[in-house]
Amino acid sequence: MTLPRPPPDVLPLGIDPETLEALNETIRAAKPFVPGGARAVFGEGPIGARFAFVGEQPGDQEDLQGRPFVGPAGQLLDRALADAEIVRGDCYVTNAVKHFKFVQRGKRRIHQKPTAGEVRHYRWWLMKELEFVAPALVVALGSTAAYALAGRPIAVLKERGMTPFGFVTVHPSMLLRIPDPAARQDAYRSFVGDLKQAKALADEQVETSAR
Ligand code: URA
Repeated sequence: MTLPRPPPDVLPLGIDPETLEALNETIRAAKPFVPGGARAVFGEGPIGARFAFVGEQPGDQEDLQGRPFVGPAGQLLDRALADAEIVRGDCYVTNAVKHFKFVQRGKRRIHQKPTAGEVRHYRWWLMKELEFVAPALVVALGSTAAYALAGRPIAVLKERGMTPFGFVTVHPSMLLRIPDPAARQDAYRSFVGDLKQAKALADEQVETSAR
């Protein structure tokens, strides 16, 4: 699919990696732009994946393990993918911001939402990464990912579904924060419904490009 080009003001000067591995090396070498985790967590999955799922930023578990979506939100994402009959091996999974932004409170590392400026700082990397992966469909999980892809604030619940910059749905961690079990179950069903819709669109895209 056609993705918007990153705005030239965020292009890191003199950097033009030719492969995803080279791009990841530039991210590894760059100083974190958010306070917190020093380790860059890269995207994971095949080049030419049917889907690229974009989250907000690595969380505590992702920072510790160095892999995206392996903590509680990742486990819920895995369950929803299975319920939508999406094969995990067809998915590339990544984040808008490559470092875990947190504040330390005692032993706990408390997640902090990245600012718009922080998301813009990482946007060039994300766009370049998606150019290399060239998925059939990009799926934004939540408002930070949608902002990174669209380059403008997105009201996820209003704009969920297909948009000019990719498919928008909620972030699985939002579901984990709903206290009422019935409301949480409803929100989970809607999330799986979105993923099924995304699957139909990706399948259509793959069939069209095979013709
Ligand atoms: N939340 C995200 O947005 N990304 C992860 O990798 C984990 C949790």
